[in-house]
Amino acid sequence: MEVRDKLTILADAAKYDASCASSGAKGTRPGSQIGSTEGMGICHSYTPDGRCVSLLKILLTNYCIYDCQYCVNRISSDTPRARFTVDEVVSLTMEFYKRNYIEGLFLSSGIIQNSDYTMEQLIEVARRLRTDQHFGGYIHLKTIPNASQGLIEQAGAWADRLSVNIELPTESDLVQLAPEKKKPQIVDTMSGIREKIDETKEEQKSGFKPPRFAPAGQSTQMIVGATPTPDLEILKTASELYAGQRLRRVYYSAYSPIPHADARLPGQSPPLVREHRLYQADWLMRFYGFDASEIVAESDSNLSLEMDPKLAWAIANRHFFPVDVNRASREELLRIPGIGVRSVDRILKIRKFQSLRSADLRKLRVAWKRTKWFVETADHNPGLASLDKLDLGERAKPPTTQLLLFDASTSAISGEV
Ligand code: SF4
Repeated sequence: MEVRDKLTILADAAKYDASCASSGAKGTRPGSQIGSTEGMGICHSYTPDGRCVSLLKILLTNYCIYDCQYCVNRISSDTPRARFTVDEVVSLTMEFYKRNYIEGLFLSSGIIQNSDYTMEQLIEVARRLRTDQHFGGYIHLKTIPNASQGLIEQAGAWADRLSVNIELPTESDLVQLAPEKKKPQIVDTMSGIREKIDETKEEQKSGFKPPRFAPAGQSTQMIVGATPTPDLEILKTASELYAGQRLRRVYYSAYSPIPHADARLPGQSPPLVREHRLYQADWLMRFYGFDASEIVAESDSNLSLEMDPKLAWAIANRHFFPVDVNRASREELLRIPGIGVRSVDRILKIRKFQSLRSADLRKLRVAWKRTKWFVETADHNPGLASLDKLDLGERAKPPTTQLLLFDASTSAISGEV
């Protein structure tokens, strides 16, 4: 099989991994020769210093001996198969790189022969890129379930980021749909990576220059909507992993129906807004001091699809408001809808010198239309009557309008909710 045909199959097979999210777009105009968006397998990711880089995102092979029911590459699937050699991946990466298409590689794989053999192949690609080709770009390697700790350590020596996909939020979900995968083993692999990252940092602090080990940390992915497991369980699992394994990111990927799927799987994807709400809730847990069980207040343990989780929390906890921006603690300020982390830090600095008025908050670019219902300033107090209004959720909800380019880019950079 030609390398180009393999690339078609193996870049397409890699698109289900949400850790890199934008490959697969088809937008080439008929007859055009440049500006093709069909560059197979090219996606974008963020480096530790916040740069957005283009990555070649591919699988080494989509043959797999496992039978995870949600996966198009499972052994029982009749999807077309292909396998790159190590040489082919190295050469493709370098050729794409020299043409300035990509700045790095995201490499994953189905499991061939056994976990260790597959992991060795991935490591060999990264090693060859680093040593033979002197490739200094970003490398993200997926670790293979059940690969040995020694191999994971080798992978971390060559890769910038490692990821171990937990795939489904609970052990019982895995038992149902991916019986070869065990949550404790997955978490053990994450612990091994965390320990090695900690050890490397400790040595650096003590003035040594230890070999690099996954300097961009580790991440994972959870598939959403393949089982009825509610958002509360998904967020609890994410929260445990952030606290216990210090993951850089948990990615949430809405389940995509696959051909000839198991009858236990749903026939359609969950609404994309569910994935979006999970990312918002994830942000609230990591930067705003919220706990999973506080955010998910709905009786069915799922996030509201109608309203962002911070506003939904505020509506359900009206007794907490109004919060006086001139007196409240950082933790209290972070709970106000429409005020993000950067604005809270600016409020704390400014109020040392002056009392904040509503015009000052507008100058800080807080979402005043939302915020005004929940804050008290030197010249504004919404009063309990406003907070008691039955339709407060509707009034405070941001209107559904097309995002302005610059507003959207600001919030995309700051991630403020
Ligand atoms: S191990 Fe990975 S590639 Fe193989 S079936 Fe499971 S999810 Fe798919």
